[in-house]
Amino acid sequence: MDRKVTNIGVLTSGGDSPGMNAAIRAVTRTGLYHGLGVYGIMRGYAGMIEGDIKKLDGISVANIIQRGGTFLKTARSKEFHTYEGRKKAYNNLKQLNIDGLVIIGGDGSFNGAQIFSNEFDIPCIGLPGTIDKDIAGSDTTIGFDTAVNTAVQAIDKIRDTMDAHDRLFIVEVMGRDAGYIALHSGIATGAENILIPETETDMEELICSLTEKEKRKKLVNLVVVAEGGDLGGANKVAKIISERIPTADIRVCILGHIQRGGSPTCQDRLIASHMGYYAVESLMLGRKNVMVGVINNKIFYTPLDKAVKEKQKIGQEWMKIVKILAS
Ligand code: ATP
Repeated sequence: MDRKVTNIGVLTSGGDSPGMNAAIRAVTRTGLYHGLGVYGIMRGYAGMIEGDIKKLDGISVANIIQRGGTFLKTARSKEFHTYEGRKKAYNNLKQLNIDGLVIIGGDGSFNGAQIFSNEFDIPCIGLPGTIDKDIAGSDTTIGFDTAVNTAVQAIDKIRDTMDAHDRLFIVEVMGRDAGYIALHSGIATGAENILIPETETDMEELICSLTEKEKRKKLVNLVVVAEGGDLGGANKVAKIISERIPTADIRVCILGHIQRGGSPTCQDRLIASHMGYYAVESLMLGRKNVMVGVINNKIFYTPLDKAVKEKQKIGQEWMKIVKILAS
């Protein structure tokens, strides 16, 4: 193959997600297989600006596929928003003859990659590494499956105590702008109501459904709320409900950061490995500024600007199904 790159850099940026290590491993081992020099850039764009970059070999990425987090660490860099910062980063890459980059992160990281690549002509390939699954151009993202399964396991446990005490539980899961974790974990745990940022909640309908269930003596109720839900997080929702249904025995549980950590599921390891492999193949073929995604189990490339602008949309059919199944 006529290789278009000789040395590549790999970094993780933005929020961490389980499976990032598996993706770094796949990028490194595929690059080495093809005889490329592979460099790990520490703490995302911050390390690129500071020159905190180390050469990786096969051993560097041994025994990490099963670990959450990212061994390259991740960060958010204000300096990368400036031209001067990006120029410093470019000079550091140039010194090491790095002529291609793989960026594992969310839409913000892709935005930075796109700007950087246009300014300095370094081809960038994005891998969707975020627990939110809100990026267009891929059925799923690295980390979503693990995060949602962590939420499901936690909610199952909460259900036991909820049932024992006939309580109404309001569980908050992660998702500032995206409701996928709430939607999937809520459906999988039989939630009566799911509140997400993408959909306007009909407050009267919510109160009506909870009151009606109380009358029928269906006393155990589970409401799953995304942290960025349209009514606010779980505490706000609990306040609204307790004002309207003073007899309800309400408890709030905010799952928080446990959803980010932990050993990645098999599915996250597989997609990370698959996408990591194709990121390197793409650079070798001369592709630039695309995100590698998986749609219907096939690799799919989306221009970075499109992946940034277009969010994956939640099908309204699911919200209808939630109501029917919870009745
Ligand atoms: P997550 O989905 O977990 O939030 P993300 O990749 O969207 O991940 P951001 O904090 O939005 O996380 O972006 C990560 C980094 O990308 C920023 O700290 C910044 O260094 C870089 N970045 C984001 N937007 C831009 C931009 N417009 N110009 C230059 N760099 C950017």
